[in-house]
Amino acid sequence: MNKAIIVCPNCGTSNRVPAASKGKPRCGNCRHWLPWIVDAGDEDFRLVAEESTVPVLVDFWAVWCGPCRMVSPVLDQLAHERAGDLKLVRVDVDQAPRLSSRFGIQAIPTLMVLIDGKIVARQAGAAPAQVLRSWLDGAIARVS
Ligand SMILES: [Zn+2]
Repeated sequence: MNKAIIVCPNCGTSNRVPAASKGKPRCGNCRHWLPWIVDAGDEDFRLVAEESTVPVLVDFWAVWCGPCRMVSPVLDQLAHERAGDLKLVRVDVDQAPRLSSRFGIQAIPTLMVLIDGKIVARQAGAAPAQVLRSWLDGAIARVS
């Protein structure tokens, strides 16, 4: 399975984190929750995102997309702030034509919040950090 290297924000240790697991990733050294940031595509989206036991923030992006480059660090920051409570799943639309068509992705970035495999919020286009933070928290709060 596809793994990501996540640097522990607490102690700086690099951890290999699986894209999907039943538990939530913790640092092997200090046991701190790790931000869970992984890539997914047509083949593994179901396992990585839809079957996730923690809320998922999906980022549909592309290499050539300028606004995606602005949003990406904000999403990284949210994943760090919510380590243990959120999984950030990045989908490169050029590598995932079936997902793009299934979700009708017209503009990128498109962001979705998935809880237990259901879309609870969706937003297209870039937005400032505080807007995305309250959008994300509102989506999760409505469901939990
Ligand atoms: Zn650590």
